[in-house]
Amino acid sequence: MRFSVPTPRQLGLAVLTCCIGIRLAAQQPPQASHIGRGLLLQHVQVFDPTSGRFTDTLDILIRGERIAAVGKLGPPGRGMAHLDAGGKYALPGLWDSHVHFSFLTLGGDTTVTTTLAAFVRHGVTSVRDVGGPLDTIAGLSRRVARGTILGPRIYFAGPLLTRAPILIADQNNLLPGIATVVETPAAVDSMLDRLVARGATMTKAIDHWDPALFRYYLRAARARWLRVVWDAGLPIVNSIPIDTALARGVTSIEHAKACGPACCATTSRANTTRSWRPGGTMPRMRR
Ligand SMILES: [Zn+2]
Repeated sequence: MRFSVPTPRQLGLAVLTCCIGIRLAAQQPPQASHIGRGLLLQHVQVFDPTSGRFTDTLDILIRGERIAAVGKLGPPGRGMAHLDAGGKYALPGLWDSHVHFSFLTLGGDTTVTTTLAAFVRHGVTSVRDVGGPLDTIAGLSRRVARGTILGPRIYFAGPLLTRAPILIADQNNLLPGIATVVETPAAVDSMLDRLVARGATMTKAIDHWDPALFRYYLRAARARWLRVVWDAGLPIVNSIPIDTALARGVTSIEHAKACGPACCATTSRANTTRSWRPGGTMPRMRR
């Protein structure tokens, strides 16, 4: 069985992570001294997703970017790098399922690199980036994939697709291209082709859409194996109801802020509703 891990470098951390799908081998593992080169993590408590429990201390041998063996592997072989990970844990890599990494670029590249590295150091090895300018997020994803910077794998959706007027105008001013207008089938096809070409695995729709075009969009995305993530927005009128969207093939609901006007306190409700009108400003967040 093959396992995928970020890199050996990422694994020499306070929290040790390894890819989803670890299955602890029942058979006798080989002894590390007979295996040759690699990185041996010794005395780790490994989380077993099958039982939901941590094991007694085991050893993990990593070769390249794969886990070669897990078990009582004995002392390291000659020339084998090893790390006493006693008191540490090996977990499946964690996911953050909703990020917008493109906003990090507003703080400069140091902000980008330190933040992405921090995700890995805290055990998050994969993220879903559900909205950002395509070139920005595709570039970040590529830098991580190539090992140029340390960070979690980035699965991304690219820009938030909507029809005019763009309701998140202030965000689009701050980060041009985070929202893009698509109002014809040809525009939908063109955008989805661009997403595929840049490595996106999802596409995100937001706020108001023409229902007929939305149906076309869902079919076009499915034909390209793109998942559709959907932020129904606040304006109920002219929007696509969430249950309808799900029934027609939307694969996830993001934000779910449409319920805000119904459940927020009066002041928040007024601010929130105003902020999502065309040309409105984002709500002020209390810390
Ligand atoms: Zn979001």
